[in-house]
Amino acid sequence: MTNFLIKNAEGILTGKIGQEARAKGDIRVRDGVIAELGNLEAKPGEKVIDAGGCVVTPGLVNSHHHLFQSCLKAVPSGMNETLAAWLRLVPVTHWPYVDEDVMRVSAKVGMAELVLSGATTVSDHHYFYSDRYDYDPSEVLFDVAGDFGTRFVLARGSATKTRKYDGDNSASVPTESLEQMLESVAATAQRWHDPAPDSMRRVALAPTTPTFSVDIGELKEIRQAGRDMGLRLHSHLSENKDYANYTLANYKMRPVHWLAEHDWLGEDVWFAHMVDIDESEVKVLAETGTGMSHCPQANARLGSGIAPTAALHAAGGTVSLAVDGAAANEAADMGTTLYLAFALPRAANQNIASRAETVLSWATAGGGKVLGLDTIGTIEVGKSADIAIFDLDTPRYFGQHDAVISPVISAGDLSVRHSFVQGRPLVENGKIPWLDLTELRHEARRVVEKLKSIEL
Ligand code: ZN
Repeated sequence: MTNFLIKNAEGILTGKIGQEARAKGDIRVRDGVIAELGNLEAKPGEKVIDAGGCVVTPGLVNSHHHLFQSCLKAVPSGMNETLAAWLRLVPVTHWPYVDEDVMRVSAKVGMAELVLSGATTVSDHHYFYSDRYDYDPSEVLFDVAGDFGTRFVLARGSATKTRKYDGDNSASVPTESLEQMLESVAATAQRWHDPAPDSMRRVALAPTTPTFSVDIGELKEIRQAGRDMGLRLHSHLSENKDYANYTLANYKMRPVHWLAEHDWLGEDVWFAHMVDIDESEVKVLAETGTGMSHCPQANARLGSGIAPTAALHAAGGTVSLAVDGAAANEAADMGTTLYLAFALPRAANQNIASRAETVLSWATAGGGKVLGLDTIGTIEVGKSADIAIFDLDTPRYFGQHDAVISPVISAGDLSVRHSFVQGRPLVENGKIPWLDLTELRHEARRVVEKLKSIEL
């Protein structure tokens, strides 16, 4: 079903900003593409999707995640730690036990949570690769994305060196040589990367972080290798003050300026977090077109701070939204992301906090832009029919004088009536039709019990 007419919506948030942020009317989809907008009548035989009492938006884009963490929620040792200790105690301590079973169930849990909150495109930054595995995590991730029907960008992570976290090196990450990393990424890209504009599958080159995961001498080679392979570059940056402390101490520069010296900025680069960036770094990011994945849940949960999203946006930069891994964020859904991206800057008295429509544009057009997926992110004629229809049929949304921005300002547990990628349904009548959630819940419980039984 890629031909249909969406009718009766309460309103449309287009993913654009300013005067064009809202629209009214119906949406005709033909061959998976938005063909017409306005007051439209169904043609003979045309299927009608009833969006009565709903808000229609572009499908939401989660631009940074770690799906393997979806069965590492609320691990007690990491619940009250900040970033470095949490990294050591939770993901790094558990990675050797993320076997194919754990990986697959976790990816399913995470993807179900995302899709049921309106995501249609997901980028997953998987950063644990090791020749000790008897399976390929990339394959599992692409498999699961295929089952759900989401567009999927694998940010293929890696580290060429291990690191001390909070001064304790008792747990360490798997490492590869630079040569191994680049060979493996090339093979992964050859198998899955589709550079076509309306691509469903992409690969990005994504060392875990340029500061702590690779040697400084490798930065330029990595950048050039990505360009040669036609892959975007992604990584973690300035998640908290540790990053600037490190680059200032070692290179006498703040992280963004330091990366500029190594050719690690540009329109084909996006970084997760960028919480601790100063005004001069915001300016450079905007000038170079380097994108941000804003992860407010994880930043709040780990006490990392609040990223200057409005400042980057105002400077003409590109902001996208992301949930980040569920081990540092036990609400890895798009609704919580939208709400916190809207509300947290206000709590911090940032007097340039953004409007709801702008926040929605980050979760749609901004996501498409950082991932280089030009056909998604806005509701307009000629764009791919990646669409989410949010039901407002719950007391949380009653009583609104301006109901259209409800999915942002009072998001909560977003209720998706339908969603589509290229006009193909992901969610139908509030459900992922093929997925048995009771069974998935039992699977997640089994995996958690298995992980808990391991003597760490
Ligand atoms: Zn992350």
